[in-house]
Amino acid sequence: MRPEELRRLPSVERLAQALDADPTAQAYTPVERRAAARAAIAQRRAELLQSPAVSCPSERILERLCAAARQRLFETRSLRPVINATGVILHTNLGRAPLPPPALQAVVEIAGGYANLEYDLTTGRRGRRDAHGEALWRELLGCEAAVVVNNCAAAVWLVLDALGRGGAALISRGELVEIGGGFRIPDIMAQSGVALREVGTTNRTRLADYEAALTPDARLIVRIHQSNFRMTGFTARPTVAELAELAKRHGLILFDDIGSGLLVDLTADGLRDEPLPARSLADGADVVTFSADKLLGGPQAGVIAGRRDVIEHIRRRPLMRMLRVDKLTYAALEAVLRLCRAGDWAAIPTLAMLRASPLTLKRRAQRLARRLRRRVPPERCRIELAPGASVIGGGCAPNVELPTTLIALTPPTGSSDDLAARLRGASPPVVARAAAGRALLDLRTVFPAQEAALANAIAESVAFLEPFSP
Ligand SMILES: *Cc1c(COP(=O)(O)O)cnc(C)c1O
Repeated sequence: MRPEELRRLPSVERLAQALDADPTAQAYTPVERRAAARAAIAQRRAELLQSPAVSCPSERILERLCAAARQRLFETRSLRPVINATGVILHTNLGRAPLPPPALQAVVEIAGGYANLEYDLTTGRRGRRDAHGEALWRELLGCEAAVVVNNCAAAVWLVLDALGRGGAALISRGELVEIGGGFRIPDIMAQSGVALREVGTTNRTRLADYEAALTPDARLIVRIHQSNFRMTGFTARPTVAELAELAKRHGLILFDDIGSGLLVDLTADGLRDEPLPARSLADGADVVTFSADKLLGGPQAGVIAGRRDVIEHIRRRPLMRMLRVDKLTYAALEAVLRLCRAGDWAAIPTLAMLRASPLTLKRRAQRLARRLRRRVPPERCRIELAPGASVIGGGCAPNVELPTTLIALTPPTGSSDDLAARLRGASPPVVARAAAGRALLDLRTVFPAQEAALANAIAESVAFLEPFSP
């Protein structure tokens, strides 16, 4: 027992006040914060009573207890914010695109109250949920109509179900791809009741191959963007315009699954072969599909856009009711589309990260490294800068590497895997790369406002031998 240390423990009220002032604890109510404060103090009291070895300098007690209480609050949640220090911009496992502030604001406004989701404010009668944002899609894509579903996989399934069920679809052998997470195009076609007509070879498919495969039951020509891989060398593939002409001549529908949903030409940023939905539609595709949370930088959703009669037909399928999105998605998506219409690409985090200059990233890494060296003694961890590359991820532009500066942490004791695990256990968790005995951090995907929390997480993670872990 250490009566004097027990006496130094703050009151629940005092700790709760400290938590009230902590910006990272604002996602919780005062009642939750008080409960966490009480639990943190009780735990510390039990530790003091049990183990005389555990001790902490008095001036840091409040700070440590605050961290412990914050950790408690945080750990009550399953879905938590993390710091993405991997440099993978569209990290599917980390939730893909972070939303821009106007989209967050729109979600907050719509989520906390009622909205005209399916209500026509002019007539006072029932309205259509899929009307939201459609005018923006028409403007941005030059399409006649568009609908939004839960994700692009759902969009592909719905298009095949609506337009191909009971018939056949022609697709190049080079496009029978797996997109990721077990989403395989041939399986989806089988699920949607469309007979698969494979055309051409893996590396070369010509227009004549499609023509030769035409049978009376053919309904669709399907073109799939090879999102997550690139073929080089002896390859050939007809253009959208050539396929559109062939489809038209034989009364078929040309369906182009684009996947990445980039609305602005980023050739100058190295994205040379990412297809643009507007271009595909202009080249004659009858219907296109793409994700809203890849290069569009919006919420998870799948967009189906194209000819009015085709989209109307899709709209009426029973599957549409099952795959529809909620009001939060419409709110976020509309806000992102408004930014696109204004050409305010810098306001969309995904695109801003993609375009962050190597010099800016280097300066940020230098600043953070200096900050860390002030807090972390060199014998605990070596902190260096190293040139590296960020990637886009999300199955987009796999051949594009964006130059960056990495912060490399080499722990003298323990392995880089241990360090990476400790970083994941920090509050908020930090996800880094581990390679060749080092943990590598890329600030491209870290928001400047997260840098202080990142520095804290690193300092805490390398302080293996610190007593009284929060
Ligand atoms: C990513 C992708 C999909 C799947 O999109 P989700 O939104 O993840 O469901 C489908 N097709 C292509 C070509 C893609 O790149």
